[in-house]
Amino acid sequence: MTVELIGELVDSFRRTGRIVIVGASLAGLRAAEALRDGGFSGSLTIIGDEPHEPYDRPPLSKQVLKGWVPADHTKLPRLRRVDADWRLGVAATGLDRRAKRVLLADGSAVEYDRLLIATGVRARQWPNPDEAALDGVFTLRTRDDAAALQAALHARPNRVLVVGSGFIGSEMASVCRELDLAVTVAERGPAPLVGALGGVIGELAAAMQRDAGVDLRTGVSVLGLDGDDTGHVRSARLSDGTTLPVDVVVASLGSIRNVEWLDDAGLATGFWGVACDAGCRAFDVNGVVTDNIFVAGDVARAPHVLYEYQFMSLEHWDNAVSGGEVAANNMINLETGRRPHLPLPSFWSGQFGVNIKGVGVCSFGDEIVFTQGSPGEYRFAAAYGRRGRIVGAVTFNHGKWLPYYADLIERSAPFPPPPPGFDRPVLGEPMPARFPDPRVPTGIPDVVLTGHDPTDRGAEFLRR
Ligand SMILES: Cc1cc2nc3c(=O)[nH]c(=O)nc-3n(C[C@H](O)[C@H](O)[C@H](O)COP(=O)(O)OP(=O)(O)OC[C@H]3O[C@@H](n4cnc5c(N)ncnc54)[C@H](O)[C@@H]3O)c2cc1C
Repeated sequence: MTVELIGELVDSFRRTGRIVIVGASLAGLRAAEALRDGGFSGSLTIIGDEPHEPYDRPPLSKQVLKGWVPADHTKLPRLRRVDADWRLGVAATGLDRRAKRVLLADGSAVEYDRLLIATGVRARQWPNPDEAALDGVFTLRTRDDAAALQAALHARPNRVLVVGSGFIGSEMASVCRELDLAVTVAERGPAPLVGALGGVIGELAAAMQRDAGVDLRTGVSVLGLDGDDTGHVRSARLSDGTTLPVDVVVASLGSIRNVEWLDDAGLATGFWGVACDAGCRAFDVNGVVTDNIFVAGDVARAPHVLYEYQFMSLEHWDNAVSGGEVAANNMINLETGRRPHLPLPSFWSGQFGVNIKGVGVCSFGDEIVFTQGSPGEYRFAAAYGRRGRIVGAVTFNHGKWLPYYADLIERSAPFPPPPPGFDRPVLGEPMPARFPDPRVPTGIPDVVLTGHDPTDRGAEFLRR
């Protein structure tokens, strides 16, 4: 038998057997579709702890909160039939790698030949459980969270308090103003979006919030929440010494990776997710790559060639789609047919009438330069640099230029970048980007470089 023939036989073997996907959301669904597209004809089981079919999360903090789209109208479009056994409403509680079984909360188990971990992240809850249990205190991650919060906003509270001003917190503040609701944002860092985009852009984001009528309080923490006799939140005690009357509190404190079900599995899991190689294959605790366990989406953490091969965790829609597709491809192909998952991170956000888009890892940079437009009008492009190379870019209402910057970042082009020759700004000189010292408590950005060690957390989490 020739080597080629053996290869073909193994390849066709990989297109059969049992694949289990844990996490029935964006990465899991797109992986399932890609498996079938790629010719996988074996059995496919998709396990999800939420009772719903896969739905889309970005509209939850935008169209759903505004009341334009009901929370249950966010189902993800199906790109093809996946012919799977859906096990919805039941959580995976353990992984037995020796027996190749996923253990479920209902006491049953599902056997696999290959496994995809796509369990994403969950919202960090308000840290005091009694206060978190008050009526009117919310987080926003799921479709049910969005439905409950939308109903609370629809009831026209006297004041909403948003705690934390990362992207989701800022979007929520924006929605409140669009609904003409009074809103206070408490941010313990120096400015909104500062963890993701640094202090220069953070100052513009702060001005944008204040222009829109948000009571933005930076350098301020929320010390406690108090309820009335009926158990509804009525006030918040802030570190600036004020007590704020509030009827709705949204804790926007970042996310926690859903890895606890893997605690005894011997995989490289931790605060930043499940470490995997650039082909989505999970590492075990010793840093040895596994053959049959793959990771995709928000829960994955993989090294990136553009960023000194540091492991990167990112919570972005595009990454979940492409990660699911690459993982699927690599589950059913031999080495020569495998693809790397080396996403150039990209994100978008709509707030206060401004369309914010970004590409690369801005927080990897230590300098920033405005390259186009007019920052004062919230219409510009800016590039981030490190050691003379461009590493990220952000645009405010200037998104059509993003591919220009993406191309430069992919080529590690010199920083400051060559001017695109269009709409040049008054401020053309690089300046410090002013990212917060990692030891200073502020929001954790949704793209994080977490060092080189698959089992290393790479950064300290500071409790709010
Ligand atoms: C409000 C909001 C707005 C957003 N806006 C944007 C945006 O504008 N742009 C952008 O790029 N990204 C945005 N995102 C991020 C984007 O939605 C995520 O990157 C994407 O959903 C990640 O998909 P995923 O499949 O990896 O994880 P998830 O969508 O988190 O799905 C993981 C699934 O696994 C389930 N699960 C967890 N543990 C278990 C278990 N043990 N057993 C079974 N199932 C389990 C979870 O319940 C969940 O259903 C937003 C997210 C939110 C919440």
